[in-house]
Amino acid sequence: MIKANNPELKSWLKVKNDSDFPIQNIPFGIIKPSGLSSRVATRIGDYAIDLSAMSEFGYFDEMGMGYKDMLAFRSCKLNDFIALGKPVMRKIRDRISEVFDYNSNLLRHDDAQMSQVIYPIQQVEMKMPVDIGDYTDFYSSKEHARNVGIMFRDPDKALLPNWTHMPVGYHGRSSSIVVSGTDIPRPQGQTKPDDGGPIFGPSKQVDFELEMAFVLGKETELGDSIPTENAEDYIFGMVLFNDLSARDIQKWEYVPLGPFLGKNFGSVISPWIITLDALEPFRTKGPVQDIPVLPYLSFHGNKNFDIKLDVFIQPMGKKAHRLCQSNTKYLYWNMCQQIAHHTVNGCNFKVGDMCASGTISGPSKDTFGSMLELSWKGTKPLPLPDGSERKFIEDNDTIIMHAYAENDQIRIGFGECKTKILAVKK
Ligand code: CA
Repeated sequence: MIKANNPELKSWLKVKNDSDFPIQNIPFGIIKPSGLSSRVATRIGDYAIDLSAMSEFGYFDEMGMGYKDMLAFRSCKLNDFIALGKPVMRKIRDRISEVFDYNSNLLRHDDAQMSQVIYPIQQVEMKMPVDIGDYTDFYSSKEHARNVGIMFRDPDKALLPNWTHMPVGYHGRSSSIVVSGTDIPRPQGQTKPDDGGPIFGPSKQVDFELEMAFVLGKETELGDSIPTENAEDYIFGMVLFNDLSARDIQKWEYVPLGPFLGKNFGSVISPWIITLDALEPFRTKGPVQDIPVLPYLSFHGNKNFDIKLDVFIQPMGKKAHRLCQSNTKYLYWNMCQQIAHHTVNGCNFKVGDMCASGTISGPSKDTFGSMLELSWKGTKPLPLPDGSERKFIEDNDTIIMHAYAENDQIRIGFGECKTKILAVKK
């Protein structure tokens, strides 16, 4: 229970400079306080803010929302809340900023209300924020596509001919996308050693893929196409995304229809959805697209975001060790182009659909976003501080991803995307 005289709240939710969640962030997620149902929340510093409780106390009464709209705050997934639309979302964000402003007296001296609205983050369980309908994974980092092409095909023709003309992607599976903190058993499947026929057993090459994903905030009808200039209207926000991959299964199965069992055993997202409004100060140019694109993929302005990305590995009982540092700005194809391409044939989007970027690798070796690239297909094992080494992920290794954008004034973060690879489930 939070009280106004709680020393932790002495300076009214004082947020540390290196916090991912200053008052300017206002992400959205689903929390489950103990003994209560799941509900819509935001986060400020180390506190979760229960928006369903705030709505019941009347803090959102002036938003012009009807009774049915207000029910969205009490839902156990964000889909209905997201469907309220960006104009409503902006009013809600503004209202939260107002209530939690340092000089605000709206909530801070009301112990009874505070105890129902504010929870130390350790006291709530983070749940899957959204019911993901359809999930698409792109392949939008040129460095990653080139590295994979060199390793598996031909160094002279590393990029396939279509790659520079369209944001290549595939339809993945949403049932196995889980929230950070969910552990995933090692997959089993068919693999084929170079010197023999196919065998069955646990994957020996479980890998992470460092990706970002966006959540669709607005639906379209069959036949609709979204132009690049409107595409951001359809993005509710972004999360970190770990597209776990079993390289040995993937290598044997992927021809000719692409990824299947090597990918769908589990992917992990960070629990807070960060809005594009919060990321606005971090817009940047993407890589130059020197091969001209067809008109439907052309765009104006800065459509990439400068978001720093870190991946750590933590063997059981050991300290976490950083494996790589990358950045979302390296993505060759931006989200607007991905959306324009995805819908150019009339494919419809629904609220809560998710699109992941593809592994985000940068130009130098320490920016590669997968073990496959970092250990160069297992030929250059990575030394860890405890004296062991890794080619791929071993049982009981935890993979932790962080993402944040920062400038001189502010830091906007995504928190953590964390999962432990367990032994094969018997
Ligand atoms: Ca991927």
